[in-house]
This record gives sequence, C-alpha cells and structure tokens, in this order.
Amino acid sequence: MKVGAKMMKEVVITKPYEYEIREVPIPELEDDYQVLIKMKAAGVCGSDYHIYHGANPNSTYPRIPGHENAGVVVKVGSKVTRVKEGDRVVVDLIITCGQCYQCKIGRENICENVKVRGSGVDGGFREYFTAPEDDVYVIPNSIDFKDAALIEPFAIGAHCTNRGKVVPGDIVFILGTGTIGSIILQTCKNKGCTVICCDIDDETLERAKAYGADYIINSRKENVVERVQEITNRKGVTIAFDSACFQGSLTSLFEPGLVRNAGRVVNLGFTTAPESISQAMLAQRELDLISSRMSCYQFEPVIEKFANNEFNLDGLVTTPIKFDEIDKVFHYMDNPDPKVKKMVILFD
Ligand SMILES: [Zn+2]
Ligand SMILES: [Zn+2]
Repeated sequence: MKVGAKMMKEVVITKPYEYEIREVPIPELEDDYQVLIKMKAAGVCGSDYHIYHGANPNSTYPRIPGHENAGVVVKVGSKVTRVKEGDRVVVDLIITCGQCYQCKIGRENICENVKVRGSGVDGGFREYFTAPEDDVYVIPNSIDFKDAALIEPFAIGAHCTNRGKVVPGDIVFILGTGTIGSIILQTCKNKGCTVICCDIDDETLERAKAYGADYIINSRKENVVERVQEITNRKGVTIAFDSACFQGSLTSLFEPGLVRNAGRVVNLGFTTAPESISQAMLAQRELDLISSRMSCYQFEPVIEKFANNEFNLDGLVTTPIKFDEIDKVFHYMDNPDPKVKKMVILFD
C-alpha cells in the first residue's frame, strides 16, 4: 500500500510475542455520535506487557493495545454536542452496556458486558481512531499530552482509594512504589493521609519521598512489620494497598501487626496464582478485603486535579518514546530495564 493522506499506521499484537506495524486507511465515523481522534500520547502500562506476553486473561488477539489515550478531536459526527474539532481530549477505556445490574448500580467498570479499549477491543497504539463522544473528556491546554496519558492511571488511583473508603487521617501502607503505587501515594496524600511506602528498590523509594511519602521501608533491608509497628505506635495501619501484585504480595499484607483491627486491604492485581489467606486472617481482625479494577466516573475529577496542579507528575513518565520508534516499546517489554518504569508513546 502507498502512503497517502488517508492512510495511517497502527500497531497490532497478532498473537503473544508477535506484533506488526500496519498501514491502513484512517477510520470513518461509524455513526453521528462518534468523533475521530488524532492520537498525541499513549501510555504503556503493565497490562500491555501482559497482553504482549499472552498473560492478560481479558485480552483477545489480534489486538491494538493502548488504554491510556490522549489526542485531539479532528472530526465530529453531525449529532455530537459535547466536543468539537480541535478539542484536546483523553479517552475512557471502558465501554459498557448501560443495562445490566452493575451498570444500574453505578459500577460500570465491571459491567457484565464490559469491553476495554486496548484489551477486549482495539486501543490507542495507532494514529487515529473513532470513539463515541460520551467516551472522551476535554482537557485544558495547561495539561501537556505526555502528562495527559497519566490521567487514566490517576483515575485508577482515585477509584481504588474510593473503593477503600480512604478518609483524611488514614494511615496507609502501600506495597510497591512503581507507577501505580506512586499514584496511590499521591492520591492518599491529596486526601490528607499519612503514607508508608514499601518497596525493594531504593531509587523508587526516594522518588516516593519526593511524592510525599511520610515513611519509606525497603523490605529487602528492614523488617516490614516491625517498622510499621514502630511508626504506628504499635497499632498497625488502617488501610493497605497491594500495588506490587506478585504471588504472595497480597498474603503479606495480612501478616499480624501490619493492618490493625477493622482495617482494610485493597487488591488491584490480576495474578492468577493462589494466595495463602486463611479465614482466621480475615475474621480475627474483622478486616475488609476490597478489590478494585480500572475506574468508574474518575476521569473528570482527575482532570480537575491535574488542572489545579494537585499532583507531582515529575519523573512519573520515565521513558517517552516516539511512535516511529515503537519497536523500542516492545524491546523494553522483552528486556525489562529497571530505569524504564513508565513509557509513553508520543505521536509527534
Ligand atoms: Zn493502565
Ligand atoms: Zn452493563
């Protein structure tokens, strides 16, 4: 195919460990309520690694990944009223039915017919795509596109802290200070909590301090429960988040002394290997185990907080990569580099 004005590039994971860069026509609007988006930035997330490596239970193939999408509206359907050409937008990843029990009780993110852009349907690793106007949110000029790709992960932070009913004064333990851990940290600080961050990597722990962590613990060098006991005056934390998400990470949060009686534990991971949590571990302290998946109604509040500069975004995107150099993204997925914590694909 020849390069022409109406053509674009897209990245397709054809099956686990294989991808192709294809040249295809720029999509047409499918109905009057759709908009055409020209991509500007797409975040690369842990779940994209899993899709590429065949380890995402929610993904089908062939698939265009990308669920952290920011771009510009370049065409609108005749019945579109919420956005106009030229608007800078981020795109929600969740496509729901609006009819099921979960949709009706405001839990659309776990709609029984949910489709997720970038795993169950095609996502944003392409130069253009269409979406219903209801799926896009306008962002102000003050938010640059690289940062706009972080709005979706911050929506996850907002959602999981809501799920955990985080309130001012909570003493929070966060396991894992990667991108999501750092975002949960900032969200909890924004809500007025004391936060303890735990990781095995001194560099990310130092970064966590810069993001507002009150205490940091390196679990390779220190006894985690002892340190938590010291910090909390022998009470334990009121809530713990597992953003490390490896086998055993969730179980470790139930260790006696870590979370106090009546505390909450929030899990976000999709590891399929079993954990070792006994009934007594939950019932003895009457702990709440709360799970959290993606987000629901959080894009707009997060955009507002971004616009108000309520978060420290410095250093969260460690590795911007040009769309022309997309091979690098897959290279880093195959050859993880501890310095490459968060890639964002930039389209121009
Ligand atoms: Zn993500
Ligand atoms: Zn539904």
